[in-house]
Amino acid sequence: MIATLEPLSEPRTVVSGETSHLLGAIEAGGTKFLCGVGTGPDNLTSIEIPTTTPAETLASVAAYFKQQQVSRLGLACFGPVDINRASPTYGHITNTPKLPWRDYNIVGHLKKELARPISFDTDVNAAAVAESTWGASQGLANSVYFTIGTGIGGGAIVDGRLIHGSAHPEMGHILIRRHPADTFAGVCPSHRDCLEGLASGPALEARWNQPPTTLPNDHTAWDLEAYYLAQAAFSAALFLSPDAIVFGGGVMRQQQLITKIEIEFEALAAGYLSVLPNLSESRLQHAGLLGALLLAQQ
Ligand SMILES: [Zn+2]
Repeated sequence: MIATLEPLSEPRTVVSGETSHLLGAIEAGGTKFLCGVGTGPDNLTSIEIPTTTPAETLASVAAYFKQQQVSRLGLACFGPVDINRASPTYGHITNTPKLPWRDYNIVGHLKKELARPISFDTDVNAAAVAESTWGASQGLANSVYFTIGTGIGGGAIVDGRLIHGSAHPEMGHILIRRHPADTFAGVCPSHRDCLEGLASGPALEARWNQPPTTLPNDHTAWDLEAYYLAQAAFSAALFLSPDAIVFGGGVMRQQQLITKIEIEFEALAAGYLSVLPNLSESRLQHAGLLGALLLAQQ
């Protein structure tokens, strides 16, 4: 399934009759939910709600939006999720390691609470759309967005359309070539040493026994991280031939990382690709939340 991507244009406020309605956005993350109301990067107010149990977190989400005059909502959700509208479990979070949320009907719950239409997609698909609308891949027909944080995920836009496939891409779990000096087993509960298992925030913390934010800029951790993330970019370039590849997420706050990734990427490309995609960091503070806002327009 390839969904037509309408909002690759300027954001608009939905108008019904003579009444202008605000749009609501939810970025559901593994550690926090961001809930916002607005029209775009320059007009967005948001709050944070900790991710605990569905009952507790969604009660706070519902309470927030009951105070807002929003006509529609977009929900950009951590995965895996069921985004196939024909599926009986559409709107569910599926096989997440976060057990209270496993097989949870998050869209159903919020629709019941808020009685508003809710558009639903993965957090990385939403972020990919936000980047191509307002961010680092703005206006480009072909782009890939990776988030590198608690987990790793990727979303792709090809010929101006977001790719869903039969479910949604799971680029964070691609298999990569291990660095010869790396003996770390990996943290992915399903695959151990897939990309997420070797290069996510929790993988960095487990390998180096300290939070990634406390690792110095010149630590060898960042060379290894770039070695792995460049492979993700290279695979994306080979599969999809994007104009741009954008990296976001907490781990990318390490500012020298994107330059290291570029160097590793060029080494991997080895002159074989005639056109290299532009690699860059996300330029949006809340790509997932902004993507949710774009979802709400659909
Ligand atoms: Zn994995």
